[in-house]
Amino acid sequence: MAGTKTFFIIKPGAVSHEYIGPILAKINANGFHIAALKLIQLDRYHAEHFYAVHHEKPFFESLVTFMTSGPVVVGILEKENAVADYRKLMGATDPAKAEEGTIRKLFAENIERNAVHGSDSDENAEIECNFFFSKSERYSKFED
Ligand code: GDP
Repeated sequence: MAGTKTFFIIKPGAVSHEYIGPILAKINANGFHIAALKLIQLDRYHAEHFYAVHHEKPFFESLVTFMTSGPVVVGILEKENAVADYRKLMGATDPAKAEEGTIRKLFAENIERNAVHGSDSDENAEIECNFFFSKSERYSKFED
């Protein structure tokens, strides 16, 4: 059975353009419960660790520099089928290929500065939520 939570980031470009409010409004309008939320500055260590799976990619250095260039919003979203439903709401990695009405179509600048992150599996959602939030920082509708 699909899990009920996913981890998301509002990336520096979207934060600096004052898109936190509009993006959270879209998330709520699509039936997600915000179970945890904070505005933080990622340091290099955490950004490199978070994107470690991409460390061989040509864009890795640029991605880490971007992700540490200003504050980000990190949070946990809850809903039945959370991972897949939030990835659908985010849209394609490259905003030029994202569907109308998706967060990336509306708020992304380009394939790197693409407004938001969302977990790609229940397993990674668990790892990413635990990377940024302790249990006492969450207000869950699904878990004890
Ligand atoms: P996501 O799951 O849709 O975020 O995509 P990926 O896990 O494949 O990539 C992680 C992040 O790396 C993306 O959200 C982008 O910010 C960045 N990225 C992915 N592909 C490219 C690329 O081809 N060029 C650059 N510059 N950045 C990329």
